[in-house]
Amino acid sequence: MLEKIVLSGIVTMGRRVYIKTFGCQMNEHDSERMLALVETCGYQETQNPDEADVILVNTCTVREKPEQKAYSIVGRFQQLKEKNPEVIVGLAGCVAEQGGERLLARIPTLDFVLGPGKIHKLPEILRDAERGKRGICTVGFENGCPNNLPIPHAAQLRAYVTIMQGCDNFCSYCIVPMVRGRERSRPSAVILAEIETLVRQGTKEVTLLGQNVNSYANNDPRELTFPQLLAKIDVIPGLERIRFTTSHPKDLTEETIEAFGHGGHLCEHLHLPFQAGSNAVLERMNRGHTREEYLAQIQRLREVAPQIGITADVMVGFPGEGDEDFEQTLELIRRVEFDGLFSFKYSPRPGTRAARWRDDCTLEVKQRRLEVLQELQRGITLRKNKELEETIQEILVEGRSRNSPHTMMGRTRCNRIVNFPGGSELVGALITVKITEGLQNSLRGESCG
Ligand code: SF4
Repeated sequence: MLEKIVLSGIVTMGRRVYIKTFGCQMNEHDSERMLALVETCGYQETQNPDEADVILVNTCTVREKPEQKAYSIVGRFQQLKEKNPEVIVGLAGCVAEQGGERLLARIPTLDFVLGPGKIHKLPEILRDAERGKRGICTVGFENGCPNNLPIPHAAQLRAYVTIMQGCDNFCSYCIVPMVRGRERSRPSAVILAEIETLVRQGTKEVTLLGQNVNSYANNDPRELTFPQLLAKIDVIPGLERIRFTTSHPKDLTEETIEAFGHGGHLCEHLHLPFQAGSNAVLERMNRGHTREEYLAQIQRLREVAPQIGITADVMVGFPGEGDEDFEQTLELIRRVEFDGLFSFKYSPRPGTRAARWRDDCTLEVKQRRLEVLQELQRGITLRKNKELEETIQEILVEGRSRNSPHTMMGRTRCNRIVNFPGGSELVGALITVKITEGLQNSLRGESCG
C-alpha cells in the first residue's frame, strides 16, 4: 500500500499523472503549471498513459489539426478507462474552454473539462474527481491573472514566465479572444519576484509569454509599461538572457524597438507575425496594421539592432485572397528576408468572424501557395545561415545535440541553433563560438575556447 500524501488539503496515494500537450508555448507553459500544481497534491508525472491515474489532455483550437488530434487521443483513452474505471480523464486548454459542458456530453470518456482561465482550480477538481464526482465543467475567466500558481518544479535553464493572458484584438480568423478571454496582465512585482526565484533555481534565460505581450498592462496606467518591465528584468542579477513572445505589430512601440539596441540581456530576436502582405487581406483580417507600417517597423528594428533575427507567422488562402494578394505576400517576404517563417493554410475556426465568410480558396490553391511560399523562405533561410559563416556568436549551451553524443547544442542571441563539438560540462555556460557552416535549419560551429 502506498503511503498517503496530504497536501493542500488533498489526499492522494502517490498517484501518477500523464499530460499530453498540443499547441503553442502558452499551452506548454500551462501544462508545466498544471504539473507543478498536481505535484503539490502528491502526484508524480509519468510519460506512460497506461500507468496513469489521471490523464490530462491540454488542447489547442487555433488550428484545425491539434483539435482533431485531441479528440482522437481522448477517444483512445476510452480503452484505458474500460480496463480501469477509476482513471480520471480531463480535457484542458482552448478546446475545453470553447466546448465546455457540450464536450462532457459528447465524449463519455471525459470526467472533467478545465478552461485555461481556471487552471488554479485543478487541485479542487481532482479532489472532487477522486471522491467519485464526474462531469465537472470549470471554464470562464476571472478578473486578473491568478498570481499564486506554483513555479514549474524542475530547475530550468530556460524558463517561460507568463506576463499577460488573453487578447483584445479580435483578428477575424482567430479564436483566441473567445477561448483565452480578454487581456489580463499580471502585476509587475509578481513577475519580477517569479523571475528572481527562477534565477535562484538556476534559470539563465526567461521568455516572457502572452498572446500579445506588447500590450502588457495597457489598461492599467499605474503599472509599468512593457519596455519598463523589460528594463527592470534586465537588471535582475544572474539572469543572462531575456526573450518575449508573441508580439503584435499594432502594439509594438518605438520604446520596445529601442530596447533591442540597449545591449543588455534582451536577445536580438523578435517574432512579429504579419499574416499577409496585402492591405486588402490585412483589413479583412482586422489586423489593425498595414504592410507599410509593418515594413517600417522592420526597418527601425534593423536600424536599432542590425543583427536582429526576425521570424513571423503568415497565412495563405484567407477568404478573398487572390493571386495578386498572394504575390504581395511573397514580395513582402523577399523584402524583409525573414530568418524563419511559420506558414499555414487558412482554415475556418468556428466562432470567428471569418468562419461566416465563404472559404473561397480551394485546398489545391492553398497548398500550391504554401509550397511556393515555403520554397522561397527556405532559400532565404539557408542564405542567411550561410552569411553567418566565419562570424563569432555568443551561445547559451542547452545540452547535447540530438544528432551526436559528442556534439553540444546552444542558441545564439538571434535564436539560431548551433551544434558544436564539446562536453556536457558546458551546459548552462555562455560561450563564444565561431560559425563554421550554415545549414538549412541550424549552424555548425566551434568553441572559441
Ligand atoms: S492578436 Fe489576433 S491572432 Fe493574435 S491572439 Fe489576438 S486575435 Fe489572435
